[in-house]
Amino acid sequence: MRVRVIGGGLAGCEAALQLASRGFDVDLYEMRPGRQTPAHRDGKLAQLVCSNSFKGMGMTSAHGLLKNELRLLGSFLLKAAEEAKVPAGESLTVNREIFSDSVEGLIASTSKITLHRDEVISLEGDFPTLVAAGPLASDALADDIFKRLGSERLHFFDAIAPVIEADSIDMERAFYLNRWEKGETADFINCPLDKETYDLFVTKLREAESIEPRPYEKNELFEGCLPVEEMARRGTETLRFGPMRPVGLGLGNNGKKWHAVIQLRAENAQKTLFNMVGFQTRLKWGTQKEIFTLVPALKNARFARLGCMHRNTFIESPKLLTETLRLRPELPCAEGLPPTWFAGQITGAEGYTEAIATGWYAAWNMAQTLVHGAPLPLPEESCIGSLMRQLVSPNKDFQPMNFNFGLLPHVLELNYRKKDKKSVLAEQAEEAIRVWIASHILPSKIEKITP
Ligand SMILES: Cc1cc2nc3c(=O)[nH]c(=O)nc-3n(C[C@H](O)[C@H](O)[C@H](O)COP(=O)(O)OP(=O)(O)OC[C@H]3O[C@@H](n4cnc5c(N)ncnc54)[C@H](O)[C@@H]3O)c2cc1C
Repeated sequence: MRVRVIGGGLAGCEAALQLASRGFDVDLYEMRPGRQTPAHRDGKLAQLVCSNSFKGMGMTSAHGLLKNELRLLGSFLLKAAEEAKVPAGESLTVNREIFSDSVEGLIASTSKITLHRDEVISLEGDFPTLVAAGPLASDALADDIFKRLGSERLHFFDAIAPVIEADSIDMERAFYLNRWEKGETADFINCPLDKETYDLFVTKLREAESIEPRPYEKNELFEGCLPVEEMARRGTETLRFGPMRPVGLGLGNNGKKWHAVIQLRAENAQKTLFNMVGFQTRLKWGTQKEIFTLVPALKNARFARLGCMHRNTFIESPKLLTETLRLRPELPCAEGLPPTWFAGQITGAEGYTEAIATGWYAAWNMAQTLVHGAPLPLPEESCIGSLMRQLVSPNKDFQPMNFNFGLLPHVLELNYRKKDKKSVLAEQAEEAIRVWIASHILPSKIEKITP
């Protein structure tokens, strides 16, 4: 059976290899080098556009756990990354040339994949399709997706605020309250700062070193979405009239209005993660941690994600996709299209390892659906399963997200003091994936997954 994969990046290459290894004939379309994106450097497949790190490897790091799962599931790109590893402590950091060359070599070595160096400009097509065109999908294809899926369903994304793990917030120094007490449940955590701390905070923000915008980003960044350090540079009081305004939040212990307050908004239904409202930033990551932990309630904060700004196209997955990353066939926008799956950053799964994971998952479910008539999801307790739940759960402020511990279903009955919480979640996730593999994929099948 013939299928089409759009995009020869991380998700597209993993998906093409998985599909080929399951017997499909794959037409893989990559528009580079003929048409470049603003961030890729040449025509290489599976190119790492920025850092050369796939993050942590240890089993108590979220990314280590995700990698372990991909290893168990027979990911081709993870294997290529491990073979291209360079020494970098606990993280999986690679020689990017060796990594890309080895993925390209794998793709070239199988007659099941035909690589077309062409831009795809429409979702229409004759074969079931997997779209993995990335956050910098070409304008023509992005326009087509935009037109079909509806204007509210494709976002132009330019800023992310940091996200904090809830149990690292010092609630002795913070309080739950919605501004003006609006809403039925208190969804915001408020972190007050006194005048002295606020002044220090603003001074540090002004002096801090930012990452320079790329030339193509310069015109797009500052329209309506100012980085927090830029606001601080405009005046000492600017933040107190912006995201740190203390109004509608009651009075402090001394009976006076708070001097300044940072609000944290729940990022997921379980309220295990909170984002810093209005704190989009271009500050270097180390600097962000240093400055944001000046806030008394955030002194020991663990950051599930740090802030950054760049162009990023993604679809509104909660409305458009099933939990197996298929474009919902019942939607009017799916009419006239071949069965279509999405993978990679375009789904809102942020990060290199997440792109590989969604590539594996979309390809697996595409194969299951086309061969057996139904998809086969992963358990929610697994890393990929929990990431999928986050991607497709109803969310009116849907934003891209990395995989992190906050996404794993928490074991409520367990006393975390007895055992480190991360180890418990890690064990739960590994057990879930091992049981799933044992019942759905024969061990011999995993070893044999070579194109
Ligand atoms: C500037 C930038 C920096 C980033 N830095 C990091 C980082 O340091 N670490 C991290 O973990 N994540 C980072 N990300 C986020 C994300 O992890 C990467 O973008 C990742 O490469 C996404 O994988 P993907 O497969 O979805 O997309 P990509 O790897 O971008 O692959 C998409 C491919 O589709 C091709 N394509 C696009 N349109 C078409 C078309 N119409 N027809 C045919 N081919 C097409 C592109 O040329 C590209 O090769 C960054 C993102 C951006 C935009």
